[in-house]
Amino acid sequence: MEFELTEEQRELRHTVREFAEGEILPHVKEWDEQAGFPRELIGKLGSLGILGILVPEKYGGAGLGYVEQALAIQELARVDGSIALAVAAHSSLCSNHIFQSGTEPQRTRYLPELATGKKLGCWSLTEPEAGSDAGGTRTRAERRDDGWLINGTKTFTTNGSYADVCVAMAVTNPSLGHHGISAFIVERGTAGFRSGRKERKLGMCASDTAETIFEDCRIPADNLLGEEGRGFFDCLHVLDKGRISIAAMSVGIAQGAYEAALQYAQQRRQFGRAIAEFEGIQWKLADMATEMEAARLLTHQAARMKDAGLPITKEASMAKLFASEMAVRVVGEALQIHGGYGFLKDYPVEKFYRDVKLCTIGEGTSEIQRLVIARHLLHSDV
Ligand SMILES: Cc1cc2nc3c(=O)[nH]c(=O)nc-3n(C[C@H](O)[C@H](O)[C@H](O)COP(=O)(O)OP(=O)(O)OC[C@H]3O[C@@H](n4cnc5c(N)ncnc54)[C@H](O)[C@@H]3O)c2cc1C
Repeated sequence: MEFELTEEQRELRHTVREFAEGEILPHVKEWDEQAGFPRELIGKLGSLGILGILVPEKYGGAGLGYVEQALAIQELARVDGSIALAVAAHSSLCSNHIFQSGTEPQRTRYLPELATGKKLGCWSLTEPEAGSDAGGTRTRAERRDDGWLINGTKTFTTNGSYADVCVAMAVTNPSLGHHGISAFIVERGTAGFRSGRKERKLGMCASDTAETIFEDCRIPADNLLGEEGRGFFDCLHVLDKGRISIAAMSVGIAQGAYEAALQYAQQRRQFGRAIAEFEGIQWKLADMATEMEAARLLTHQAARMKDAGLPITKEASMAKLFASEMAVRVVGEALQIHGGYGFLKDYPVEKFYRDVKLCTIGEGTSEIQRLVIARHLLHSDV
């Protein structure tokens, strides 16, 4: 019983679950094996309103909140983490950054097509030399005539090969450190902007991860997103909110693996009885369910606080840290319950096991979450 959810929120969760089981589940194995991003699914997710949950109605979205966003991501991840990741990058990072920092013309121009899935978004912060230390960004944006000239290479961009709209961070004043980084909107088709190497990955294989490359890429002055020099700080706010989605993704992946293990434990017989009858297996299931519940509550608490307009930096990091590490543990136990069969590609737990590790890395590693949390503990009233 999740007493904290409204009737509408339960309905939304049910709708996304039905969609995930009907439209995604039958293809999970094929997309994973072919490492193929199902671009066509984005339109369907858009039609269902999943891509615009956080976008206000005046910009073509559903105008809902972070609890709804978390529920949707959770349900997608329960079936396929890759799709949840693609949606999180599109909506929680790209669209959200445009909504958070964009001018009215930028919001009107980009958000309706992103919210309805007519266009796919990506968000390029990470670089070869700037991962956890995003302040080390080297991609350069220089003022030219009435616009900007961008040069540099971004790595690890989710949806990077397919996105129509890319929000990218670049240095506009190298002498100002964190205050010299700005954000830009770059559209596919702009001369000098292209996708680079598509990464081959351990998991999340159906989610596209690629370089985005800027070579003398000229964009209009209007494509500066937010104030010049505020890009780094705006990114921190975007990431605070994005971490709710990664926490939700972790809960969803754990839930999918747990359900598979619960079912398997009741079917698999050894020593003349179902393995679920052994206390050793029951304790695992009990710990898994308890840990998932704790992570879900932390995630929903951060989401509800965000919806109430409260600061969430610490809470979002706690939710992301706990939920992602919980998910790695729970999926590991789910595989263990499957014994040797969990090691085979015939069972879904093998894929959950490969996918889940991303949760402790993307949008700030566990170590970085601990830094963020500790900073709050040491430097603010708690
Ligand atoms: C599948 C996938 C999708 C991604 N999608 C996107 C995306 O859409 N957009 C985007 O911009 N990026 C994306 N990323 C990048 C991701 O955010 C980075 O990988 C992550 O922030 C870590 O950066 P790094 O890989 O360079 O690791 P590094 O920063 O090099 O870290 C290496 C290790 O050192 C640790 N470390 C670093 N600094 C400290 C410190 N101060 N204290 C303690 N430990 C520390 C880290 O925790 C880690 O364990 C994606 C990554 C993956 C794998």
